[in-house]
Amino acid sequence: GRDYSNATATNDSNDSDRLLGGLLATGFDEATCLSRYQSSLYRKPSPYKPSPYLLSKLRSYETLHKRCGPGTEPYKKALTQLDQDHIDNNGECKYVVWVSFSGLGNRILSLASVFLYALLTDRVLLVDRGKDMEDLFCEPFPDMSWLLPLDFPLTSQFDGLNQDSSRCYGHMLKNHVVDNDKTLSHLYLHLVHDYGDHDKMFFCQGDQTFIGKVPWLVVKTDNYFVPSLWLIPGFDEELDKLFPQKETVFHHLGRYLFHPTNQVWGLVTRYYEAYLSQADEKIGIQVRVFDVGAGPFQHVMDQISSCTRKEKLLPEVDTVIERSHRLKTPRKHKAVLVTSLNSGYSENLKSMYWEYPTLTGEIIGVHQPSQEGYQQTEKKMHNGKALAEMYLLSMTDSLVTSAWSTFGYVAQGLGGLKPWILYKPENRTAPDPACGRAMSMEPCFHAPPFYDCKAKTGVDTGKLVPHVRHCEDMSWGLKLV
Ligand code: GDP
Repeated sequence: GRDYSNATATNDSNDSDRLLGGLLATGFDEATCLSRYQSSLYRKPSPYKPSPYLLSKLRSYETLHKRCGPGTEPYKKALTQLDQDHIDNNGECKYVVWVSFSGLGNRILSLASVFLYALLTDRVLLVDRGKDMEDLFCEPFPDMSWLLPLDFPLTSQFDGLNQDSSRCYGHMLKNHVVDNDKTLSHLYLHLVHDYGDHDKMFFCQGDQTFIGKVPWLVVKTDNYFVPSLWLIPGFDEELDKLFPQKETVFHHLGRYLFHPTNQVWGLVTRYYEAYLSQADEKIGIQVRVFDVGAGPFQHVMDQISSCTRKEKLLPEVDTVIERSHRLKTPRKHKAVLVTSLNSGYSENLKSMYWEYPTLTGEIIGVHQPSQEGYQQTEKKMHNGKALAEMYLLSMTDSLVTSAWSTFGYVAQGLGGLKPWILYKPENRTAPDPACGRAMSMEPCFHAPPFYDCKAKTGVDTGKLVPHVRHCEDMSWGLKLV
């Protein structure tokens, strides 16, 4: 096994691992955020290396962030622009404010998307801390906070921002009040799944030219909109350079940005060491049921069994008990990590592997960290546990996820794992096949635009380029492959 106690020791040979292939900057105080440099000890090294171009882009972003971040002179100067409707001359720094919105999985994916947008447009990302962002995540950039200061003048408006807000870009387009000769001081971008055709014009190059001049952008989104950025001329070439392996966008950006705080990291490491570290193989099963009513559901249980059996992720059991004495040594120990709001699925698996021996002789341990019952978006420890569980799933060797779930997308992306996706059940029946292997580890963009900006007509955006395709788990979604 590995020696976790030595986690803070450094030497040259493991430095590249520790810094995730150069993704992480050096020089952070280790103790204030143990996960940052320790996560590499809990995972196999990623087979995906970040491009040198991405690394240099991140380092220059860090410099920009430090120069323009909260409290700096350029920041103060930019704030004064907010008092005006239109600005006369360009300030030194431009900003994009990510508004805390929706479930934790959605937030992680949308924040990564907005960060990539900031990288592409030379903006500084500032994070609305919402109820719990500060309790969940460490600061990702050296020497300068990413948190939006509490006294930011527009914060009190965040909750009320929607499609009909007067500074909403889509709303302005719809009402023909966009004046291309003037530059607005700030603009609200409504990129929430319920957005309309005018809001979706965000994904057009021409509109980006206008939006690009505005010093303050405020974005509300619950989506991973990266695949559609790739369809914007002007961004595509830069994206190709940043991510020559296209399916690694969230894998790299997620590992770069999201470091659990020490409290959450404690949840991760204590659980890992108690239940997972000794196993020869670790299987993650993420069960997210969108049906109404209290589970567990038989059709979901059937689906899990059918998938794990068919894909040979878990062994079958021998129900003829008398035959069970054959000893195979050494016996392989598989740990199954189940995450679900409901405890029924893991209890069922656990009983099965207790009551009957496996046909292969493997020993199966089944573990579920929490069973919270229902989604409780605003409770602190609830989301701490959710984050810890996404992280633990990302440390497994093979992963089974649930269709449509951003919780699963985060785990697969952080882990660099192509999951088996449990397809969405219809009418409370298990689909056949129960699951299928994902094409890539990228998250799915659930609400993409289907518009050809040049031709000004509808178009199937999943058929334009080979690397942006429709998702396995949602036919109208888009993902990078
Ligand atoms: P999605 O709804 O599956 O796309 O994922 P989100 O993370 O956006 O929202 C679901 C929320 O429900 C999570 O943030 C958690 O608060 C909670 N939740 C769902 N599944 C689990 C689970 O397996 N474990 C825990 N601890 N919480 C969960």
